[in-house]
Amino acid sequence: MSDDEQYLLKPMNCPHHTMIYKARPHSYKDLPLRLAEFGTVYRYEQSGELGGMTRVRGFTQDDAHIFCTPEQVEQEVEGCIDFTLKVLSSLAFDDFRVRLGFRDPTSDKYVGPPERWAEAEAAIERVARRMNLPGCEPEPGEAAFYGPKIDFVIHDSLGREWQLGTVQLDYNLPSAERFDCEYIGADNAKHRPVMIHRAPLGSLERFVGVLIEHFAGAFPLWLAPEQVRVIPVSEKSEAYAKQVQGRLAAAGLRTGIDLAAEKLGAKIRTAQLELIPMMVVCGPRDEAAGTVSLRDRVDGDLGAMSLEAAVERLRDENARRAVRHKPKPLAVATAPAAAGDDY
Ligand code: ZN
Repeated sequence: MSDDEQYLLKPMNCPHHTMIYKARPHSYKDLPLRLAEFGTVYRYEQSGELGGMTRVRGFTQDDAHIFCTPEQVEQEVEGCIDFTLKVLSSLAFDDFRVRLGFRDPTSDKYVGPPERWAEAEAAIERVARRMNLPGCEPEPGEAAFYGPKIDFVIHDSLGREWQLGTVQLDYNLPSAERFDCEYIGADNAKHRPVMIHRAPLGSLERFVGVLIEHFAGAFPLWLAPEQVRVIPVSEKSEAYAKQVQGRLAAAGLRTGIDLAAEKLGAKIRTAQLELIPMMVVCGPRDEAAGTVSLRDRVDGDLGAMSLEAAVERLRDENARRAVRHKPKPLAVATAPAAAGDDY
């Protein structure tokens, strides 16, 4: 670092993307311009407000800013919502509502004239209603200081609400009083672009925290850190089990193997408690026949099948990102553990 340089921690990515937009002139033909970044930002939260991974001082936003013409706004907002819905459905977040964050007309923390706010709020509400999103009640006072927003509020397995994805409409930061962004229209005159801020996950740290709570740690196969555990029924089948593990790993699956000197029942129980989605049990008869027995964490024994059939089944489930078992509510975390409870 040279002596006269200073480094700062940024609380948001918006101004930087705006400066990239401004770095060269734009024609209406360039728009929409979409800039995306996994941006690390910092906010000095009060120590009493910090919590786990859900409220931290340094976090990563899956952030993007879209610069578009006023005519493109609704289509672009719709695209952002579609993207967010796709993310939520692939993670089995079925229980969510949409909050329309509007301006509180009595507060002076918002920038820009009331007419611009009315236009932006109406556009957001039209899109949300057209897409039949659940909820959609306008909530005054929930807007960002620069514009109204659509927030996706999800429920975790304990019934708590978390705000995750967000799409925000902004007629203010591009304005002459702020960043003074412009483009040349079809009429050869200068116009003001509209800026859309969007983050389908919000903060990656918070999202992962909520995701773990949501599945109560029992991830579907495609998300689990260890997807498949290979379990030889006894020491005699260890060599075959290693071979099976190699075949599963070659198919792109994240595998573990349990070579502990324990009974089969104990190894299955360990895998269950560690929330491993699928077990592959191998015994001497399997070795002779080239088979394995699949055992699902929830459904139990799925029977014997050829190793290739098992590999195909697991690979397919992984590739489809299937969520076969919907998340179940956790026992209330503050309840005392029952006698003999292993958790
Ligand atoms: Zn932004």
